[in-house]
Amino acid sequence: MSMISVTLPDGSTNEYAAGITAGEIVIDIEGQKHDCVAAMVDGSEKDFSAILESDCSVEGISGFTDDGIHILRHSAAHLLAQAVTLIYPDAKPTIGPAIERGFYYDFADLDDFGESDLKAVQKKMHELARRNVTVERVECSEDELGEMFADNPYKMEIIKDKLEDGHGSTIYRQGDWYDLCLGPHVHSTSKLMHVRLTSVSSAFWRGDQSREQLTRIYGIVEPTKESLKSTMSAIEEAKKRDHRKLGKDLQLFHVDEEVGQGLILWTPRGATIRTCLQNFISEHLTRQGYQQVYTPHIGKLDLYRTSGHFPYYQDSQYPPLVEKDMMIKLANEGCTCGELANMMTAGDIEGYMLKPMNCPHHIKIYSSQARSYRDLPLRFAEFGTVYRWEQSGEISGMTRVRGFTQDDAHLFVTENQIAGEVLGCIELVQVIFEALGMDDYRVRVGLRDSDSSKYVGESEKWELAEDACRAAASSLGINWSEEPGEAAFYGPKIDFVVKDVIGREWQLGTVQVDYNLPERFDLQYKGSDGEMHRPVMIHRAPFGSMERFCGVLIEHFAGKFPTWLAPTQIHVLTISEKQVQYGQDIAAKLKSAGVRVELDDGDHTIGKKIRMHRKFQPAYMLILGDDETTNNTVSIRARNGDQRAGIDFETFLDELLGEINSKVAVPSLVPSEE
Ligand SMILES: [Zn+2]
Ligand SMILES: [Zn+2]
Repeated sequence: MSMISVTLPDGSTNEYAAGITAGEIVIDIEGQKHDCVAAMVDGSEKDFSAILESDCSVEGISGFTDDGIHILRHSAAHLLAQAVTLIYPDAKPTIGPAIERGFYYDFADLDDFGESDLKAVQKKMHELARRNVTVERVECSEDELGEMFADNPYKMEIIKDKLEDGHGSTIYRQGDWYDLCLGPHVHSTSKLMHVRLTSVSSAFWRGDQSREQLTRIYGIVEPTKESLKSTMSAIEEAKKRDHRKLGKDLQLFHVDEEVGQGLILWTPRGATIRTCLQNFISEHLTRQGYQQVYTPHIGKLDLYRTSGHFPYYQDSQYPPLVEKDMMIKLANEGCTCGELANMMTAGDIEGYMLKPMNCPHHIKIYSSQARSYRDLPLRFAEFGTVYRWEQSGEISGMTRVRGFTQDDAHLFVTENQIAGEVLGCIELVQVIFEALGMDDYRVRVGLRDSDSSKYVGESEKWELAEDACRAAASSLGINWSEEPGEAAFYGPKIDFVVKDVIGREWQLGTVQVDYNLPERFDLQYKGSDGEMHRPVMIHRAPFGSMERFCGVLIEHFAGKFPTWLAPTQIHVLTISEKQVQYGQDIAAKLKSAGVRVELDDGDHTIGKKIRMHRKFQPAYMLILGDDETTNNTVSIRARNGDQRAGIDFETFLDELLGEINSKVAVPSLVPSEE
């Protein structure tokens, strides 16, 4: 019997008979009670059934690792499809990937399937998991695949697209059911006991609205009962915090079909939050030497031809606007839409575009004057509204929209200034995150990959800019990582990813170094040597957009905003009609001190008033009764119901203004009783 030498995770080696499976070795290393779902053989993922014939290294992939949970999720998607086709024999499985929090599978011919049908499918999945069905990998020729999937046009389309002529692929079989797949998968359905189906939605085949509509079923799988429980409660918590729900409950924003999908209407309470945030950010921009500019919402097509946004990114933009006279002339000539589009693309007629980016406008402000090295760095900031065409299926609340206001700025700098300016951008983000109590965040530095032919600009310049980004990220003591291949073709970038209180990560905005646009617009400045030089641009919108950032903040705070951001800070509630005058005086004094206040001196009982006002999450309610009126005091009620009674009004006002001005993240004028 020939032997192979296998390197184990601890670095030692062991001899095994050739032909042993990866799974047998994992059991040898980890024992029978291991939590592994597959094996890593020489650095690549393999099924437990993989037969080993030569020297290699072997390691178990635990279901608790990122790689392991991915395999579990993908395997659970197979189990889902098996269960669905058992109950609905006509349903046709299409694709079923693992996703960030679980998995889904898209089915054709599964119409009228709703949330109420999930239970039966989930029950069937548990039944199959308990049966401990072996999951096998089978190599198939092209002809065999053609036969096996003959009655599923979706799988046939994938086979036709993905497989080179004459090449086979693999299927994974569990019992009578099989799916086209490269694997790896768990070796038995028993690994998929802890599975839960969560929701149903619709999707289009291949994400293409012109193709068939499919039914998408989502689910969660975890390695253990406990981890499933904690994941499910995190999902519950996330649902409660959903900004679309809270946005409605707290009356922060509105989306109206008649205005348009993905176009946010900021209602007064939400607009207050946005204004406070913008003022706060602007204050720091001013300190960092930024200058405010304003630019219009549209620009000529020629501008975007120069910048490269048109016609290349047409798909992600609203169609252009044609000049009025031209439109009338073309209509009289009987011009079709297709002809019109072609003429615009070719540059034969002029038109305007809703701006997809603020950069070209800011560039024109730069080039409106002769610039010298003494002017640099120039930093133009604008809360600039831009419009992008998102597919309607992609639109969601405030986080995926068609019109949004970026916290945008463009810095025009010399090469030597890149490092300092990138650093300044990150510092600004730190200040804002800290003020909002978002202390768990990281930055990703996007660099070139090894195929350097796709990047514009000289290699030495890139190295300088990449070093500047690395240096900035590492100098601030924050968590950061390098991401080769994530740079744009025109320069390296820094992304901000913030983790909210329930552990979800949100990608916000970026800082982007750009060698390309200064070239395209032929930007110049006069150097100290008297020669003309090309500036470098830095685009930065670190919070992404006000819409997205506010959406994230609503979820982060679960609607309980810090006092300085709360849409209404104080609600004054009177206990009876005897306090109406005192209530009005208090409200007036608060208002004139700049506090956002609401007064309820109506007839409801105090209990009812508290319930009615609590849903708006003011930082505090002031309860006014006889004692308060007589002594010129207030009783302060915190969000959790704790009270602080008999506080002199002036003392309260001082404390309140102190809390607002210092932007305390959690209202804390009422000491917690716990
Ligand atoms: Zn698969
Ligand atoms: Zn830009």
